[in-house]
Amino acid sequence: MSERRILSGMRATNPRLHLGNYEGALRNWIRLQSDYRVFCMVADYHALTTMGDVPPDLAYNSREVAKDYIAAGIDPDKSPIFIQSQVPEHAELHLIFSMVTGLGKLERVPTYKEKREDLAEGRQVSYGLLGYPVLQAADILLYRPYGVPVGKDQAPHLELSREVGRSFNAAFGAEVFPEFKDIIDDDDLRSKLPGLDVDENGQLRKMSKSYDNCIYLTDDADAVAQKVKSAFTTPSKMRKTDPGIPEGCAVCQYLKLYSPDWQTQWEEDRRGERGCMQNKNDLIERLNEFLVPFRERRKDLDDASIDAILKRGREEARDVASETMAEVRRAMRLI
Ligand code: AMP
Repeated sequence: MSERRILSGMRATNPRLHLGNYEGALRNWIRLQSDYRVFCMVADYHALTTMGDVPPDLAYNSREVAKDYIAAGIDPDKSPIFIQSQVPEHAELHLIFSMVTGLGKLERVPTYKEKREDLAEGRQVSYGLLGYPVLQAADILLYRPYGVPVGKDQAPHLELSREVGRSFNAAFGAEVFPEFKDIIDDDDLRSKLPGLDVDENGQLRKMSKSYDNCIYLTDDADAVAQKVKSAFTTPSKMRKTDPGIPEGCAVCQYLKLYSPDWQTQWEEDRRGERGCMQNKNDLIERLNEFLVPFRERRKDLDDASIDAILKRGREEARDVASETMAEVRRAMRLI
């Protein structure tokens, strides 16, 4: 292994990535690009594990997600970008890993339990939902990476992938899959970026498409302004002179990330020397400034250029994946 590899990916559940995806994931991938070969996967199969009655338009979503990767700063000349289903070794290794993974272990995964409860009544739990972590293990281990970037609260998910690799090695008596590292982002605000709204208890909650509380990387300046204007602030702050509580205010949280003057702004907000509208206007300006380079890069990306990038990415991913599969087959005495 001449180059240290990193594996990272996002599901193609919808075509637009949001600021949470950027702060919690992409930002780190972009940072890692200078020291590692960062394999950026668009996980289209994974988008099927929680699909509703209408199947997603995966080809469209995947292309758009790949465009957002580049718009955010992934350099396709440094980091291969590829679509999971276009590298058939993912499905193959998933099948093999399913033979060395205990059912009990999968049934205890907290996200499986949650998603099962979220399913509409009468809907069957699919095998794919249960097997999601096995496919994730295949996604990661195919590339035998040095590490996988992850937010602090998601680290336990990766432990299962490591266990699957260990089970394979133990079952077939070969060290095919070395252990990989978690590259943890311990910035709590960035790894769980709040959305613009609050939950039923008045608490900030994670930015997520399903809550319809997102700022998308593709939002134009007007859309950003409109969303920020209707964002949640301190409920007891009716007038500028009322004291604010920046810790519980979505707008102040974003100021912390995007405004170099946030400390002064927070203090003024707390002392009732600054109104919510002023905070919002400052944030609109900062956020739009921040998103300008994203918009610039994205406007030059048409379908033909993205397809060429994805083809190159797929070739590089397959080179690595097929080498791993050759070792897997030898270890299993399939060949
Ligand atoms: P997913 O759509 O679940 O595949 O998420 C893609 C990536 O974005 C994962 O690394 C998530 O942890 C990250 N992510 C999603 N929502 C947020 C958020 N609100 N704040 C920080 N990271 C997020």
